[in-house]
Amino acid sequence: MNFPVPPRPLRMLLVLFGLLLACARAAADIEVVASFSILGDLVREVGGERATVHALVGPDQDAHVYEPRPSDARRAGTARLVVTNGLGFDDWLPRLARSSGYKGAVVVASDGIRPLPMNRPDDHDHGGSAGRADPHAWQDIGNVRIYIGNIAAALAAVDPDGTDAYRANAARYLAALDALDADIRKAIARLPEERRKVVSSHDAFGYFARAYGLRFLAPAGVAGHSEPGARSVARLIAQLRREKAPPVFLENVSDPRLIERIRSESGAVMGGTLYSDALSSADGPAPTYLAMMRHNLATLMAALEVR
Ligand SMILES: [Zn+2]
Repeated sequence: MNFPVPPRPLRMLLVLFGLLLACARAAADIEVVASFSILGDLVREVGGERATVHALVGPDQDAHVYEPRPSDARRAGTARLVVTNGLGFDDWLPRLARSSGYKGAVVVASDGIRPLPMNRPDDHDHGGSAGRADPHAWQDIGNVRIYIGNIAAALAAVDPDGTDAYRANAARYLAALDALDADIRKAIARLPEERRKVVSSHDAFGYFARAYGLRFLAPAGVAGHSEPGARSVARLIAQLRREKAPPVFLENVSDPRLIERIRSESGAVMGGTLYSDALSSADGPAPTYLAMMRHNLATLMAALEVR
């Protein structure tokens, strides 16, 4: 049996040096604070082993009505990087971080997407929100590709040694996003035009609708987890009766009672629960962004294909 030639001292030194360098790099631990669970998952995918990510608004929680806790302020104050969604969704995070002594960059993950205006008449009438953008940009995978690029650049800026790792993680994740995007398009292409219509609690799926060609009707507006007016609910119920009652869906972040009422008064079918603004807990059906989108697609298709 032939044994390999023992390495020369120089080669040995190089190997040792390489090992030491690898250890030092693997040990990098960048503390990142993200505003909510979906964004936290995206940062975790790009940060990999180099980053510890804290999402302040956790699974199944509603970021629209978030109240900061003292522990959140401490986390934000001492983070190496703060990542927000932007588009008015989580303006509280930069304020919280700055007032807690954070001096670093605030990354707006949605920078560079094509924003969708909030175009519900109710929003314009009561919320003073005319001209504002719909914040739920993560519901379009094309936008999430842009999020990933922004997150990778921001991580590399605070941790240049990790640039290659962030780039590799991002590339791998972008491939998974592409596969997911193709699957959504393929599934929805199977639905006849008249079945591409659903009802959900609040206007969280505008970007999904624009990207994938489904129509969403919702009793509550974009930021609206507040009670919608009785008149707009009555109008929606009347519309559903006229339109042969498309299926209605609950959302993990919204009160189910209104949707239940709309379902019973319009005679619609209950389609299940969509994850709009937050992931599920680890043992739920949507613990990551990829799992969330696949769960939503499967839930939509189950209701729209069988009718
Ligand atoms: Zn929302």
